[in-house]
Amino acid sequence: MTPVELAGRQVAAAIRSKVAEAVAERAEAGAGTRLAVVTATRDEALAWYVRSIEAAATRVGIECRVCALDELSSPQSIGAALDRLTRDPTVDGLMLQTPLPGGARLADLAAAIGVGKDIDGANPLSLGRIACGLPAFAPATAAAVIAILDHHGIRLAGAGVVVVGRSTVVGKPLAHLLLGRDATVTVCHSRTPDLAVVTRRADIVVAAAGRAGLITGEHLRAGAIVVDVGTNPTADGGLVGDVDAGSVAEVAGALTPVPGGVGPVTTALLLRNTVLAARGGYPGADQGRHGWE
Ligand code: NAD
Repeated sequence: MTPVELAGRQVAAAIRSKVAEAVAERAEAGAGTRLAVVTATRDEALAWYVRSIEAAATRVGIECRVCALDELSSPQSIGAALDRLTRDPTVDGLMLQTPLPGGARLADLAAAIGVGKDIDGANPLSLGRIACGLPAFAPATAAAVIAILDHHGIRLAGAGVVVVGRSTVVGKPLAHLLLGRDATVTVCHSRTPDLAVVTRRADIVVAAAGRAGLITGEHLRAGAIVVDVGTNPTADGGLVGDVDAGSVAEVAGALTPVPGGVGPVTTALLLRNTVLAARGGYPGADQGRHGWE
């Protein structure tokens, strides 16, 4: 059985085209749509990612400003920069990129990003609102998982979903978004004793552990739907997910590719969130939709 490919690129293209329309409408009315991205480390992978966000923003007409802080910045000075940008009326959406210097924690620093501009759901208040079923910006990667499943018509209500990974940026917010969509959710992590016993019960498995090849065919029931969030660099400069594509292909009913799955949708949702923030709104609890319908 060859699994259905749950491609992300077409989902991302649909979102970007709506974003471009909305940005153009704002421009006609004389309003800009502006994103600020804060970095505080010189990291090659980060630099590449930030350039890709900048390029994607520019293509849909969003002005993107990158604020590259010094690597020796203290947590206090990063917090102060975020505070300044949050109060800056010429910034609509604001995000802080990891890695951060000196072991500073994203959730600590992102508390300085106003929730109305927190387009990557990094402020702990945003996660709290999501957990309470209130409108807020969820981390874009978590929302991207829902958007891909929705786009491909996969029913979440009543589905058994196992999320592998409990990070604050992916696993935890995703668990809350899925609960908000009436899925039955189990979250596994590095201390889960027998992962395969749990994942084999799932209708949908979301792999977000950052471990290449962690999920094999042995971890799945026949026909399971698999979303691969993992992005693991390979020795030859490529990228693989957390899924062992060869063995999983023999068992899964559907699978997201890496690259070309969750990644492009994540970037598209950051752009969508910037437009929503510029309009002064959040996505509703139903994060998969475009948010302005
Ligand atoms: P993280 O390191 O913060 O968290 C990893 C989680 O996986 C932890 O909760 C850990 O307990 C769990 N885990 C680790 N090994 C495990 C194992 N053997 N069995 C079960 N659980 C295990 O990582 P993160 O920031 O949540 O990112 C996860 C992955 O998603 C990474 O590969 C990252 O690059 C990728 N990612 C992709 C996007 C995207 O846009 N595509 C965005 C963010 C993160």
